[in-house]
Amino acid sequence: MPNQCRILVTGAGGFIGHHLVKRLKNDGFWVRGVDIKYPEYESSAADEFEILDLREFHNCMEATRNIDRVYNLAADMGGIGYITAFLADISRNNTLINAHMLEASHQNRIERFLFSSSACVYAGYKQKSADVTPLKEEDAYPADPEPGYGWEKLYAEEMCKYYHKDHALETRIVRFHNVYGPLGTYEGGKEKAPAAISRKVALSANGSDIEIWGDGQQTRSFMYVDDCVEGLIRIMNSDCREPLNLGTDELVTIDGLVDMISEIAEKKLNKVHDATKPQGVRGRNSDNNRLQQVLGWEPSIQLKTGLVTTYKWIEAELNKKPESQAAAALTVA
Ligand code: NAD
Repeated sequence: MPNQCRILVTGAGGFIGHHLVKRLKNDGFWVRGVDIKYPEYESSAADEFEILDLREFHNCMEATRNIDRVYNLAADMGGIGYITAFLADISRNNTLINAHMLEASHQNRIERFLFSSSACVYAGYKQKSADVTPLKEEDAYPADPEPGYGWEKLYAEEMCKYYHKDHALETRIVRFHNVYGPLGTYEGGKEKAPAAISRKVALSANGSDIEIWGDGQQTRSFMYVDDCVEGLIRIMNSDCREPLNLGTDELVTIDGLVDMISEIAEKKLNKVHDATKPQGVRGRNSDNNRLQQVLGWEPSIQLKTGLVTTYKWIEAELNKKPESQAAAALTVA
């Protein structure tokens, strides 16, 4: 693909979008970033960065003008506390963004459109055990996704297929499994488990208690953001229109994740479990067979390796804050 290709990244003010813009610029592409906010921790590498609310159709038309490829990452989303608390807002906001972005991409004759879906589309009844069988792409049906966020993502996946069928829009569908890394939200309620636990560990004195949501035996796999960006670009360049998992299959319990981060921080902490807090499905892991078949590649950065960089970045960010703000951050999520 010639690197004169003009690329739009929506959600470019967010975690994955910001990293993706940086990588695409390094690869020599012209990039427009769009979001309702600028990136929080460093400025965007995009050639153009426009503040546009993509729930409005006319803004989607503006965002997609003179563009060849779209990475549609914009979404109202957060960790399990956030997505279980705001079902109506999340459903409405994301449905509007995705429906309008697809239609604008069709009207502006975009060559390829990549939709960022989620492992939250997978059926709840397949995720009842901590020792879960890794989820294959076909396990999303019969449908029983996460309320709100998961239903909306699954429906938007279907819309991508309809836009290909009716309008020949080339669509790609990526189902992310828990992405983490530096420059991601680590406080305020939208952060996910690796960032929330890193923050709590960084703010806890050696030997003190650390609060864990749930009984700590729920399992997940986590993908480092560099693997995520590499996978996104490879999937965009592939011929696969079917949904693809993008995650690792390195399964870990939440307690195990706390132990890894505590070890990196060289702290011994006493885990206190709070079963009243949301913990999502019991177990979730990614089956990467289809991804391997399509790309001959899968994410490979070990969790321990990625957590070192992530923890050190969050610790450094917290060290920049006055003590009172840092103490307040310990009490949230
Ligand atoms: P993020 O919250 O950091 O980024 C999303 C960005 O979308 C934010 O900057 C937000 O301001 C922007 N946005 C929200 N509403 C908007 C609107 N109306 N108009 C324009 N921009 C808007 O999240 P992320 O982790 O970078 O996730 C990127 C994508 O990947 C999302 O679609 C998300 O659902 C999906 N995803 C992420 C994960 C993960 O673990 N991070 C897992 C599954 C799926």
